[in-house]
Amino acid sequence: MSFDSEYPTVTRFAPSPTGLLHLGHAYSALFAMEKANQTGGRFLLRIEDIDPERCRIEFEDTIYEDLSWLGLTWEMPVRRQSEHLGEYAKAISTLQEIEVLYPCFCTRKDIKATIHANFGPDGPLYPGTCRGLSQKECKTRESNGEDFALRLDIVKALKGLSSSIQWNDLAHGKIIAKPEIFGDVVLARKNTPTSYHLAATLDDHIQGITLVTRGEDLFLSTHVHRLLQKLLGLRTPDYHHHPLLTDNEGRRYAKRDRSLSLKALRDDGNSPDQIRQMAGLE
Ligand code: GLU
Repeated sequence: MSFDSEYPTVTRFAPSPTGLLHLGHAYSALFAMEKANQTGGRFLLRIEDIDPERCRIEFEDTIYEDLSWLGLTWEMPVRRQSEHLGEYAKAISTLQEIEVLYPCFCTRKDIKATIHANFGPDGPLYPGTCRGLSQKECKTRESNGEDFALRLDIVKALKGLSSSIQWNDLAHGKIIAKPEIFGDVVLARKNTPTSYHLAATLDDHIQGITLVTRGEDLFLSTHVHRLLQKLLGLRTPDYHHHPLLTDNEGRRYAKRDRSLSLKALRDDGNSPDQIRQMAGLE
């Protein structure tokens, strides 16, 4: 699909180093770089490594090797999210100042044990158990060392909006954002001052991304990202959620299929051109 833009487009590829990249990632990265090149724009790389338990430096190193081998070039420096936790913490403080966050002390087990009336894209919606806790109780529980997450009070957040919010999706048209589908989504945790939603939204702004390209599996997340942009006063880029690549049986590629990783495919002697072909790009 050609994309007409008067301005040079800035795109990015934002993998999480939690496993080896596969053909679907190759497609997504090449797609993003092509969109930038079509307008003489810029292509950036971001490493989404906020989860120290799942992210590994070996996977990050292999991401650079795979992408260079495929012929991708990106502008330096690479933005590594783990080096920017202070910026996410600042955004969390802003959201606290406008009183749209509350601490939630529920464990996964507590949440599982409640009766769920509503379901969202990530499963049952949080039933709001901690929404009404007094400030005093929250302070006491926090100083007792209890674990907590910071949740968005979606009703309060939406109440502050004067009109509906929307985004322009090059694959799907104009979309009215409905962030309430996620309910009171978690935006940070006690030891990690961010979540995927907050870090990705803030980074797209800070990196000056004008077109966010990513797979359709993240389409629904954009409803929350659009609200965060509004609450934090960030620019709204255009989006292009592309279809996900599937194997011959119609299954999405997954990081657990190691034999289909880009590393395995290149170790088996495939060329970058063959990978482009397998990804349906030639
Ligand atoms: N880090 C995400 C992933 O690897 C992609 C995030 C995004 O493109 O917004 O699936």
